[in-house]
Amino acid sequence: MYPKLVIDLNKLQQNLDAVADITERGGCSLMIVTKGLCADPEMAKLVAASPRVSYMADSRVQNLASYCDIAREAGKKTLLLRIPMHDEVADVIKYADVSFNSELSTIRLLNEEAAKAGKVHDIVLMIDLGDLREGIFFQREELIWDAVEEILTLENIHLHGIAVNLTCYGAIIPKNDNLSQLVRIAGEIEKRFDYKLEMVSGGNSSSIYLIDKGELPEGINNLRLGEAFLLGNDTAYETDLPGTTGDAMVLQAQIVELKEKPSLPIGEVGVDAFGQKPYYEDRGIMKRAIIAVGKQDTDLDSMTPVDPQVEIMGGSSDHTILDVTHCDKDYQVGDIVSFTLGYGGMLKTATSPYVAKEYIK
Ligand SMILES: *Cc1c(COP(=O)(O)O)cnc(C)c1O
Repeated sequence: MYPKLVIDLNKLQQNLDAVADITERGGCSLMIVTKGLCADPEMAKLVAASPRVSYMADSRVQNLASYCDIAREAGKKTLLLRIPMHDEVADVIKYADVSFNSELSTIRLLNEEAAKAGKVHDIVLMIDLGDLREGIFFQREELIWDAVEEILTLENIHLHGIAVNLTCYGAIIPKNDNLSQLVRIAGEIEKRFDYKLEMVSGGNSSSIYLIDKGELPEGINNLRLGEAFLLGNDTAYETDLPGTTGDAMVLQAQIVELKEKPSLPIGEVGVDAFGQKPYYEDRGIMKRAIIAVGKQDTDLDSMTPVDPQVEIMGGSSDHTILDVTHCDKDYQVGDIVSFTLGYGGMLKTATSPYVAKEYIK
C-alpha cells in the first residue's frame, strides 16, 4: 500500500552507533528520543537492544506505554520529556521511570500518585536558560532553590537531576557559556543541599556539535538525541554528523495522473485549499504528475525528491503535484516516486494513519 514510509533498520543502527560514538567521546550518557518516528515499534526494539543507550524518551506518555516493557527489560529507563499534565500523572507514574518537570503543583501530584503506587518517581527539574520554552527561568535563582528545597521533602519523589532545552522555541544555540550556567546551577544545588545530582542534561540534537569542538562544558553528563539519531543532523548549524545517514526513512508515493498542462492556472486567482494566495511562475507547458499523498500525510516543505530532476510544485490535503518535465526517467501513471524527509515530514508521515510502513532489515 502507498503512501509508504520505508524504514531502513540497518541505517538506523548505523546512526545510533555514530551518535553513541560522539556522546561517549563527550563523557555523556545517551538518551534516545523516539517521538520523531512516533515510537515506531521496530525502531524502539533496535534502541532497546543497544547497550550504549541509557534512557528511552518521548514527549507523549502513550508512546512510552507502547515500549516501556521492552525498555525496562533491557535495563533502560523510560523518560517523559513534556512537562506532565495534571490529568496524566497516574499514567506518568505507570509508564515513565523519570519525568521532566517545572511546576511544583504537578510534582506534588506525582508524589501523591507515586505513594499510591508504592513507587519512588524520579524527576528532572527543567531550567530555562533563555530559549523561553519550559523550565524555571535561570535569572530567578531563588525560585530554583525554593523548588529544590520542597522537592527534597517529598517522600515519593527523587530528584534525579536538572536539564535544559534549547533551540526549540527561541532557536537559541547551545554554547559553552549558556551550558556553563547549567553546570554552575547544578554545583550550587549540590552545595546548598549537600545532594548529588545524577544527571545534568545539556540539551538535544543542537548540543551534540559541541563535543567534537571540545566546547561541551565539563559537568554536562547527558544528551537527548532524536533528530541526530533519526536523520543524522546536528540541528544547531544543520550539518551532517560524521558516520550518519539522512535517508534511513524514505517516503514513497504513487503517481495517479500524468498530463501536459500549462504552468499558469486559468481564471481569477482566489485562495487555495488552505486559505493561501498562491504564486505561479510561467514555465510554459509542463509535464505534471499528481502523486497520492498530501498535507494530511506529510509536510511538503520537508521532503526532497530522491530523483533530483523532480520538483515539488505544491499540493493540498490528498494530492501533491510534481514537475517531471525535465526528468530523464519517463514516468508513467502507477510509478512510485521516493522522497527523503526532514524532521517535519518524518513526524507527519510517522503519525498519519494513512501512511503504511515497510522495514528494511
Ligand atoms: C524533542 C525533545 C528532545 C529531542 O530533540 P531532537 O532535536 O530531536 O534531538 C530533547 N529534549 C526535549 C525536552 C524534547 O522535547
